[in-house]
Amino acid sequence: MTNKRHSEETLLSQDEKYVWHSMRPFSPNSTIVASKANGSWVTDANGSRYLDAMAGLWCVNVGYGRKELAEAAYHQLLEMPYFPLTQTHEPAIKLAEKLNEWLNDEYVIFFSNSGSEANETSFKIARQYHEQKGEHHRFKIISRYRGYHGNTTGSLAATGQAQRKYKYEPLAHGFIHVSPPDSYRDDIHVSDPSELSSVKEVDRVMTWELSETIAAMIMEPIISGGGILVPHDGYMQAVKDVCEKHGALLIVDEVICGFGRLGKPFGFMNYGVKPDIITMAKGITSGYLPLAATAVRKEIYEAFKGEGEYDYLRHINTFGGSPAACALALKNLELMEKENLFDRSRDLGDRVLNKLTTLLQNHPYVGDVRGKGLLIGIELVKDQASKEPLEPSLVNQVVVHCKDKGVLIGKNGATVAGFNNVLALSPPLNIEVEDLDFVVHTLVDSLNNLVK
Ligand code: PMP
Repeated sequence: MTNKRHSEETLLSQDEKYVWHSMRPFSPNSTIVASKANGSWVTDANGSRYLDAMAGLWCVNVGYGRKELAEAAYHQLLEMPYFPLTQTHEPAIKLAEKLNEWLNDEYVIFFSNSGSEANETSFKIARQYHEQKGEHHRFKIISRYRGYHGNTTGSLAATGQAQRKYKYEPLAHGFIHVSPPDSYRDDIHVSDPSELSSVKEVDRVMTWELSETIAAMIMEPIISGGGILVPHDGYMQAVKDVCEKHGALLIVDEVICGFGRLGKPFGFMNYGVKPDIITMAKGITSGYLPLAATAVRKEIYEAFKGEGEYDYLRHINTFGGSPAACALALKNLELMEKENLFDRSRDLGDRVLNKLTTLLQNHPYVGDVRGKGLLIGIELVKDQASKEPLEPSLVNQVVVHCKDKGVLIGKNGATVAGFNNVLALSPPLNIEVEDLDFVVHTLVDSLNNLVK
């Protein structure tokens, strides 16, 4: 024990010296030196165990420690560790074919390495597609405030969270934002989804910006990092209809919502929509290796088959679709099917939502409990009437209390205007039922602790 303690301290001081972390400055009190992980549990260098109710960064969908995945990568690394997709190789072909089993054989797949890259790729494809069709002015991309699409100049420009852009602007041009569907605060009680204020705004903005200049709209099925905003069931199709009216493509960002998170292979499948482009990352390998993909409807791909020097997609990356990542991803998708993780995500999600709704119905700070599948948000407010976001220090207190009790949960929204007030759960889809109940009880206990 003494040795282990010493080793964690040493690691932390070395970390402080050498590693630049994402997001906040390094803080020894809230940092875990993770050293092992299995199932839904992570063990730190001190031997303390934490239930990871965020599946890392919303990505370890089949849980940690899956030997099958490690072996798939290992065998492929021995067989052929690298070859670029300027040519081709079997693992990429097989994975693209497998994805098409889920996508009704209607898409071609461009591989890359991260969600940000998958989205950048989608923007270039959307813009060039219109060029190919002779519509030379369609370059604008519409996205929603509070949505997150990545950290690169285009994907960050599409992101609708001002606090992430501050000090980095100007970013890529041509990105325009509209209001997200916030079912907790806005009108969702309409019989015709085209009457939703958030849908009417898309139509209005596309009109005012001039339809002939709009290339595409990008959206997550459920805004995840921006506060788990679950839309009206008819919202997505209504937005797709608006896009069609204006001649714009619909890009669906499945980076978090895909791979079973919302109880189906892809999140959009809950809403009966056929996207023009689908971007994916994270759960495609359950986070075991970097891989991302941009799936494009075949009719769009056809427009890139001209003979001219600039008719094809001039877009290349060194590591995208690496053989080992593809082989691992294929095994990952097979595991999801074999273990029926889509239905499991849907059913366990219903269980958590029911429990939390019942246990928290009279909590003064709980404004809304919402989600779909194993993507759950709890919005904390000062009081039910004003719906004003709860103070950040109190929201933090819940997260820290959960961590102290051995459960890692998330917290997000958009720091602008104090909207960083949504607690998030996004555990591995194969989490044990008793572990999930432990998450629920720890969270409820932590919330009750606030008002003691
Ligand atoms: N899109 C969404 C919806 C995301 O949540 C994220 C990452 N959290 C990204 C894109 C960017 O993915 P990456 O971090 O792999 O670049």
